[in-house]
Amino acid sequence: MARLVMKFGGTSVADINRIKEVARRVKAEADAGNQIAVVVSAMAGTTNQLVQWTGEIATIQDAREYDTVVSTGEQITAGLLSLALQDLGVSARSWMGWQLPIQTDGAHGSARILKIDGDEVTKRFGDGQVAVLPGFQGVSPENRLTTLGRGGSDTSAVALAAALGADRCDIYTDVEGVFTCDPRIVAKARKLDKITYEEMLEMASQGAKVLQTRSVEMAMNHGVRVQVLSSFSNAPGTLVVDEEEIVEQEVVSGIAYSRDEAKITLLGVEDRPGVAAGIFGPLADASINVDMIVQNISEDERRTDLTFTVTEADLSRAVEVVEKARAADGIGYETLLSDADVVKVSVIGVGMRSHAGVALRMFRTLAENSINIQVISTSEIKVSVLIAEKYTELALRALHTAYDLDAE
Ligand code: ADP
Ligand code: ASP
Ligand code: MG
Repeated sequence: MARLVMKFGGTSVADINRIKEVARRVKAEADAGNQIAVVVSAMAGTTNQLVQWTGEIATIQDAREYDTVVSTGEQITAGLLSLALQDLGVSARSWMGWQLPIQTDGAHGSARILKIDGDEVTKRFGDGQVAVLPGFQGVSPENRLTTLGRGGSDTSAVALAAALGADRCDIYTDVEGVFTCDPRIVAKARKLDKITYEEMLEMASQGAKVLQTRSVEMAMNHGVRVQVLSSFSNAPGTLVVDEEEIVEQEVVSGIAYSRDEAKITLLGVEDRPGVAAGIFGPLADASINVDMIVQNISEDERRTDLTFTVTEADLSRAVEVVEKARAADGIGYETLLSDADVVKVSVIGVGMRSHAGVALRMFRTLAENSINIQVISTSEIKVSVLIAEKYTELALRALHTAYDLDAE
């Protein structure tokens, strides 16, 4: 007997037939004697529609009401799945985030889970009852509904697995696991049997949306065993594991990309102490995250160029903040250029720590394909480059081949 959390994403619960199929999968695990808590996403497309409506109804966005609206998609699927399970003769009930409760902070729209009370669910496991929970939602210290940020149902599932002391958290989605690259772009991508927490964290934070970044962080911190697998087949999935569990470590285990990037370049920036703080300080004050940064050395020690990236959604706000800083604080630069048609491509692998030449191979491969690199950044286990968005597919496929990742 095992205690399992099973999470089903939007495409896995996209319509009534898919929900019935999910109910059959859950029943099979329950019939095998396992204790089951299920976490569901909203039906595919529903959350987008809800977000769009909040934008259409008013120009002022009250984040608390935004959460009231967008959290409803998951309530529908939780209720429907409970009904489908009961119809199959399985004892099941739904629990909304506020009923357990799933306590979060008050950061509406991207709240963090603080605590989950799993006592009642655990008690009912004893009577053979399956618990069905909506992902993505919680309740704030002010007793308002919150949501965890897009893709947040993964985090709900992992947090619940930690709170219940589950043996495993199975994330059912529309691909058979974690691949060496997004299989929808690179047809030769290979499914990984195992990936380390650290690599998965890097893959997710560099854009591989198969798991929400926070869910991987949470799994790593609480030692939750996570498996990513398909709800459309019975193939074994990918296990996210500790580094020691991987016998043969590849130098590069995956490639991720993010189109959600925008670049700001300041030409002719004054080269004197305090200028960087004068630009990035106001951006931080406006809660705008800056990702990649490059600054040239100036030849005449008077003027230099500075380039940095923000998310596409933050671009217009970031431009405003920098222009205001120039006017108010006298941060001197000559020209501001912005470009949203960029993509960040990252190669990732823990093997990089002990192998040289990984970055070089990336630069050479891009050069052979006449792709210009605009910005570079590195960490211990990844190399990222910013390139023009129109080269996304070409770059991913060429790099996938160059690092010997292609499936036979
Ligand atoms: P769900 O609705 O089940 O949460 P998501 O759309 O959030 O599913 O995540 C699954 C998608 O992630 C896949 O359809 C795939 O296109 C994408 N993806 C991106 N990178 C990868 C990768 N390295 N491995 C697997 N899937 C990936
Ligand atoms: N329904 C939410 C979203 O689309 C949460 C999730 O599916 O994980 O972002
Ligand atoms: Mg998802």
